[in-house]
Amino acid sequence: SAKELGRNQVRLFTETLSDTRPRRLQREHEIQDAIDQDQFLLLMQPQISIHEESLFRVEALIRWQHPQEGMLSPLEFIPIAEDCGLIIPLGRWVLRYACTVGLQLLEQGIPLFMAVNVSTKQLNSPDFLEDVRSALEKTGYPATNLELEITESSFLEDMDGAIAKLQTLRNMGISISLDDFGTGFSSLHYLRKLPIDYLKIDRSFISTLDEDRESKAITASVIKLAHTLNIKVIAEGVEQASQLALLTQWNCDLAQGFYFHRPLSVQAIEELYYTKYRAN
Ligand code: C2E
Ligand code: MG
Ligand code: MG
Ligand code: MG
Repeated sequence: SAKELGRNQVRLFTETLSDTRPRRLQREHEIQDAIDQDQFLLLMQPQISIHEESLFRVEALIRWQHPQEGMLSPLEFIPIAEDCGLIIPLGRWVLRYACTVGLQLLEQGIPLFMAVNVSTKQLNSPDFLEDVRSALEKTGYPATNLELEITESSFLEDMDGAIAKLQTLRNMGISISLDDFGTGFSSLHYLRKLPIDYLKIDRSFISTLDEDRESKAITASVIKLAHTLNIKVIAEGVEQASQLALLTQWNCDLAQGFYFHRPLSVQAIEELYYTKYRAN
């Protein structure tokens, strides 16, 4: 009957709620504890210079070594941390840890240049500039070896405020890259106004280069356009030699992806540098 159906619907509804809300709340508590208990770590994925040998570049990518569930991907906790505000202390931890590890590698003679992801909430937080300054000062990692990766959504709320912040960071010697380019609003008008050094073409374009004419056309013209604006281009998610061949032909500056290396532990990064890069 309709009454029964109605009751069932209510039951279903409450079951869904009781299934997801406490779980999410539990995650939030867990993230807080995990920061205190050092359960997070950073892996580093190299970025390869296509046309010239230069610095040893890496992107820092967070992982959560969860005591019961094992290694968790950032996609499973970064969005939750953003929603509940824990991205601020977590982002602070990432900056601090990245700079600490970065300095250790520099001190071993590895000419490291490291990119760190910054979420929109984090960049827009009033504490952000101070958090960056403090990470650099307390660790001694040089600002000129740091790059911050931001996304287009960082400009939706307060474009001029975000631009001013990026300008301050650049004046400190930090480089800025625009991550996941092509997935947001990607206005070419804004691209001209943004104080950025690098543009990262999203993996969704690179992974379809071989079969999709539009991905090809977009990637080739974004590289050209970026170069006209004095911005260097990084291709994300390169998995095949055929993709690298096209990117090389189009004069793309840097490439990152499983074709070269997966995200690696700090120790694996050291070994990679000594066995492969320094040898060249
Ligand atoms: P992202 O910044 O766009 O990072 C690139 C993602 O693509 C990484 O996933 C990387 O492992 C993956 N990737 C790289 N090359 C390939 C490839 O050839 N094929 C495929 N299939 N994947 C590739 P990951 O590490 O799971 O990170 C996912 C996202 O989580 C990142 O995307 C970034 O938005 C966010 N994230 C990671 N670390 C942090 C962090 O420390 N702070 C913040 N706020 N966000 C982070
Ligand atoms: Mg990134
Ligand atoms: Mg990206
Ligand atoms: Mg991406």
